[in-house]
Amino acid sequence: MAAMTSSARPFLNRRLAEFGTTIFAEMSALALRTGSINLGQGFPDTDGPEEIREAAVRALRDGRGNQYPPGPGVPELRHAVADHQLRRYGLAYDPDTEVLVTAGATEAIAASLLALLEPGDEVVALEPYYDSYAACIAMAGARRVPVTLRPSEGRFRLDLDELRDAVTDRTRLLLLNTPHNPTGTVLTRAELAAVAELAVERDLLVVTDEVYEHLVFDDAEHVPLATLPGMRERTVTLGSAGKSFSFTGWKVGWVTAPAPLVTAVRSAKQYLTYVASGPFQYAVAEALALPETYFEDFRADMRAKRDLLAGGLAEAGFGVYVPSGTYFVTTDVRPLGETDGVAFCRSLPERAGVVAIPNAVFYDHREEGAPFVRFAFCKRTEVLQDAVTRLKGLAHA
Ligand SMILES: *Cc1c(COP(=O)(O)O)cnc(C)c1O
Repeated sequence: MAAMTSSARPFLNRRLAEFGTTIFAEMSALALRTGSINLGQGFPDTDGPEEIREAAVRALRDGRGNQYPPGPGVPELRHAVADHQLRRYGLAYDPDTEVLVTAGATEAIAASLLALLEPGDEVVALEPYYDSYAACIAMAGARRVPVTLRPSEGRFRLDLDELRDAVTDRTRLLLLNTPHNPTGTVLTRAELAAVAELAVERDLLVVTDEVYEHLVFDDAEHVPLATLPGMRERTVTLGSAGKSFSFTGWKVGWVTAPAPLVTAVRSAKQYLTYVASGPFQYAVAEALALPETYFEDFRADMRAKRDLLAGGLAEAGFGVYVPSGTYFVTTDVRPLGETDGVAFCRSLPERAGVVAIPNAVFYDHREEGAPFVRFAFCKRTEVLQDAVTRLKGLAHA
């Protein structure tokens, strides 16, 4: 009798076969083995505000959130999320029926797609994608239809004609991300207005991943899609404390949407984690109410880091797309005489002692992303300075 484990057939099912391993695991292992500076994965190397850490400790000590919190999230956090959306964007959501707390934005993405899609539905999403989008669309049995962001005049842009052409009678949902990881693009009001018009015209749902809403620089403006005419009723907006407050390990995210959409997403969410992050939910409620100076300082700090890394990369010979948002900078390796970002990233630790991520892994049309490489700048200044010094040797190596 053949042992089941010796089957020649791989165990991972067909829906997920293409998602077997992530590039982050490979690159982080490479960083460790070579003692490289890891600018691959996007998490800060310093924690968020001390008073918010203390708020989590207090909640834990006071016995708040140590047992299953309510399914939709603790009321304090749901109210804080509703207040945040109203105060900043003029978006009114009922904290009891229109806000849902999730295990990070990652679970919000999974629950939204699992709840809202039928097998065979098409999802139009911007390519390059955040890595969990394609996997979650596949888990839902739906089909992804990429619309490629392409660089022109220093910025990755959305081609509105291509977006329009990508929508068919089978399209159920647009999956949007602004500010955009990995390109650093912040969709403009004009681009979003065109997206909104299309969504209304074709009666589409939109899931919009706005986890970098507080990380916009210079003259860029974050416009929540739900603020545009006809959009509130069809839009599911996602946020995350990981990115806004530098606590990526706490896994606190949220969904805001009209009650019928939140009810649907909650139905899927209750069978994923059910609930998560009890004491951290109370701390994040306090974080969302921090004074404006916190957000200004956070942005200013990240902008300075962006300038340091983007400037250093340009000096090292990369083509640089200076990001208007997020904590990533996308570069073009062709000015260095390279064509293949994947090969480049595999050799970079040996050549320069730095780890980066090839954008190609975030594309269906890999050739479109081939020359692009992403570096994260949410690291301490001295780490970025060290990385820049190491990278300057590249041109001469
Ligand atoms: C980091 C990230 C997420 C995941 O957020 P968590 O709250 O850590 O789960 C989702 N979307 C994008 C675009 C991200 O960069």
